[in-house]
Amino acid sequence: MYDVIIIGSGPAGLSAAIYAKRAALNVVVLEEAPFSGGQMLNTYEVDNYPGFSGISGMELATKMRTHADKLGVEFVTAKVTEAELTGSVKKVRTDREVYEAGHVIIATGARHASLGVKGEELFTGKGVSYCATCDGAFFKNKDVAVVGGGDVAAEDALYLARICKKVFLIHRRDKLRAAGLLQQKLMEQKNIEFCWNNVVDEIVGETAVESLRLCHVISGEKITLPVQGVFIAIGNRPQTELFTGQINADRTGYLIAGEDGKTSVDGVYAAGDVRAGHLRQIVTAAADGANCINSIVEQISRMQ
Ligand code: NAP
Repeated sequence: MYDVIIIGSGPAGLSAAIYAKRAALNVVVLEEAPFSGGQMLNTYEVDNYPGFSGISGMELATKMRTHADKLGVEFVTAKVTEAELTGSVKKVRTDREVYEAGHVIIATGARHASLGVKGEELFTGKGVSYCATCDGAFFKNKDVAVVGGGDVAAEDALYLARICKKVFLIHRRDKLRAAGLLQQKLMEQKNIEFCWNNVVDEIVGETAVESLRLCHVISGEKITLPVQGVFIAIGNRPQTELFTGQINADRTGYLIAGEDGKTSVDGVYAAGDVRAGHLRQIVTAAADGANCINSIVEQISRMQ
């Protein structure tokens, strides 16, 4: 029986684990893959986590993990299959065993969204990718496209521009959502070309991606864009399916919780990208983890 079970080991889960250990709580972190680190691992460069200017996502994740390890946090690699959260003793079933605790922090993060167009599924791993830092090297000196207009699309395009011959940035509007500094860097990059107001209708090829069919959302004009790779960066979906029906969520599935992390179920907290909120950054995820532990410590002291 633990004080706290943390599900997920991205920045929210790792921060919660560090705060839990410092509060002398008995804590276990359940993670699907060893050293998951969450979406940080797919980030080439993080330039807005205070004190770590320009650090790679991998290095920042490693530093956080080392910090948790030094404090003696117990990590278990296991896939959570079911969670019974309503009673005073929470039961989290995994493919290995059942874990019990008085409190559960859900820090399961988010997963990439799909375009849902013809060819996307067929060519995933054959030119369609959702991770530029993982797959970019396969497209050295080739022409590729990035779809999206947020921070991830901008970062992916900048990363790929260093490796590929040409990068087309395809966005459904004529304004990017990405941070101003990233936009500035994109404009300065000679081998990035913008395809404004365009959506992908189809991903075309024989055995791998050969081109994209684009449609201009205003004129309706359709063109074929020859590329060997397409990186889809159109946002994320929360990983909250396991908790559907047990915890109040917004219409897109993000768990509703205040700054204190408390969800609609007593003793259950949400931290990081799974929590409904405006800003989803490493720094806000880390803050969420800390807030959840603070709430748990307060609750435990009230009960004593
Ligand atoms: P995002 O900010 O939600 O942006 C998604 C982009 O994809 C938007 O430009 C959106 O267009 C476009 N889009 C959505 N659905 C689409 C569709 N079906 N077809 C075509 N385009 C579509 O997502 P993100 O870039 O993945 O970032 C996720 C979160 O992580 C954000 O909060 C971001 O700030 C954060 N992040 C932070 C950092 C950092 O701080 N270093 C780095 C990466 C990510 P519209 O603009 O028209 O809606």
